This record gives sequence, structure tokens and C-alpha cells, in this order.
Amino acid sequence: MTLPRILLISTGGTITMTPGAGSGIAPTLTGEDLLRAVPELAARAELDVVTYSTKPGASLTLSDLLAIAERIDGMDGAFAGAIVVQGTDTIEETAFVLDTVVATDRPVVVTGAMRGAGAPGADGPANLLAAATVAGSEAARGLGALVVLNDEVHAARHVQKAHTGAPSAFASPGFAPVGRVIEGALHLYARLPRLPAMARPDAVEEAPVALIALALGDDGRLFDALPGVGYRGAVIQAMGAGHLPAHCAERLQRLAQAMPVVLATRVASGPVFERTYGFTGSETDLIARGAIPGGYLPGPKACLLLRLLIAGGLRGEALRSAYVMRSRAALA
Ligand code: ASP
Repeated sequence: MTLPRILLISTGGTITMTPGAGSGIAPTLTGEDLLRAVPELAARAELDVVTYSTKPGASLTLSDLLAIAERIDGMDGAFAGAIVVQGTDTIEETAFVLDTVVATDRPVVVTGAMRGAGAPGADGPANLLAAATVAGSEAARGLGALVVLNDEVHAARHVQKAHTGAPSAFASPGFAPVGRVIEGALHLYARLPRLPAMARPDAVEEAPVALIALALGDDGRLFDALPGVGYRGAVIQAMGAGHLPAHCAERLQRLAQAMPVVLATRVASGPVFERTYGFTGSETDLIARGAIPGGYLPGPKACLLLRLLIAGGLRGEALRSAYVMRSRAALA
């Protein structure tokens, strides 16, 4: 039997972490080290390994993700798919960005681990094996980027880290996993249609987007500060279905005149509404004042999409409709 050939790009994260000289664990292992530690992988796939970095997930940048996307799209026809190994803190963002910009229809699987490489019950080896199963699977073609941990397969647009420590930390709040790995095989329960890939923009680091969540009683004064400190866009995580205190509404309107502003929600699941409430600071009021309705995307994904669109040169109505089209994809 010929094994699928898979490109594995290792960037770091807990799965690569071991105790170092100081206190606590830190990323030390390379992609090759990971492979050596899981001999069972040799029976699942033929892996070509690239150690892109040894960073914690929090230190990955959007430029890193675009460089990784370029490598994935550069795979020749011999490769069945790709695995990206990284810190779980930002897996949902990486998967979302790869889903948005990678053009190949071959599976792109993002994985990591919740427990360090040497910890009792380390979950990294099982996650790598499951990731290889999905990345090498014909059935996973055309599904875009997937997150595979704890033998669950999540769509990039739905997945979120929902617990800081549990091995079952990944969930698709408001949705469900699209599949599972059982007895070494992919069981696929749903196929979400993919959106067309967006061109990879240059200079993403020059399109910073602020992410601001509000709590009861906040007067929104940070909104006024954003243009002066160089932000080019903002995502506001409002309350409930997209609501702000009444006295924030004018501040949001001024901000929306200075830069694109996405109205997201601080609630873990469900979309921002667009036509239900009519009070000052409600979603209809804020949208009328210039906010872009945030759809189903949680704050961090909304931030990255807005950065990609701004860096891609989109402005005004074109930016608004591109954002709306990609944030409502959950309904497709
Ligand atoms: N807790 C994280 C992880 O599971 C640390 C990181 O994102 O690097 O990998």
C-alpha cells in the first residue's frame, strides 16, 4: 500500500515544549524530533518535515501565516496534504487564515497539544497521528483548513479554543465537529462548502487592527485613541447580539468615519444581529452609524480578516461586502 505523502510544518507550541533551564516548559523540539517520538506515524504517512520556527503560538504573526500558506500552495503534485503544528493558543486564528488564503483543495490540518511533550498523558502523539490520518485522506479534500485535536475534526471557521487546560479544549460553539478520527480512519459528518481563496496580500504588518471588548459601564474612550496610535481598522466586541452602551454610539460613529469598524460580539457563539433592536447603541443603530456587521466571526478571526482585506487594498463598500461575504459563510 502506498502511503500518502504529507508536508509537516512545525512552528512550536506546547507539543514541542520541554523543561528548559528556567522555570516552566518552553518550545525546544523540532519537527524531526516530533517525528522520532511517534514511530507509529511511519505506518500512516510519508512525512516531509520543515521546522519553520520554535515559537509559542502567541508569538506567531500574520506574516508567518502567509509564509506558511505560500509553502503549502507550493507543494508539488506528489503531496496529498499538509499539517501545521503549533501552539494551541492561536490555532483558531491560524486555521482561519489558512482557510482564507490557501488555494489548494488538498487538506490542510492544524494541530498541537495541550500537554507538554514530557508530561504524563501527553496528547501530542495522538494528535499528530490523527492529523496525519486526516491530512492524508481523500475525503478531506475540498474542506479547507481543519483543526484536529482530541480525535475531533473542526472546521476552521467554527473552531475556538474553549478551555485553557483540558485536552478537549477545542470546540465549535454553536456548531459541532465536522468529523472524528476513529480506529485510525476519518469519519466525516458534514462538508462545509469552501469560499474562494483570497490572494495573499503583502505588507500585512502595516495594517494593524485593534480588538476591543467592552464591559458594563465602559464609556468607549479607547475608540477615540485608535486613529492617533496608528490603527487602520477596529473590531469591537460588543454585548449580546451587537449592543453598546448608548453613550458609546457617537464615539463609534466618529471611529467608523476614520477607519473600517467591525461590530462583533463578546458572546462565544451566534451571529451579530442586523435588524432586530432599535435603541441607541443597538445593532441597527451602530450599523446605521457605519459599523460593518460582524456575522459569525469571533473577535480574533474578525480582526485577521479585516487586516487581510485592508492590506489587500480594499476600501469602503468593497471592503464591507467582502467582509460580510466571508463572515456569513457559516450560513452557506
Ligand atoms: N498553551 C499553548 C499550547 O497549547 C502554548 C502555545 O500556544 O504555544 O501550545
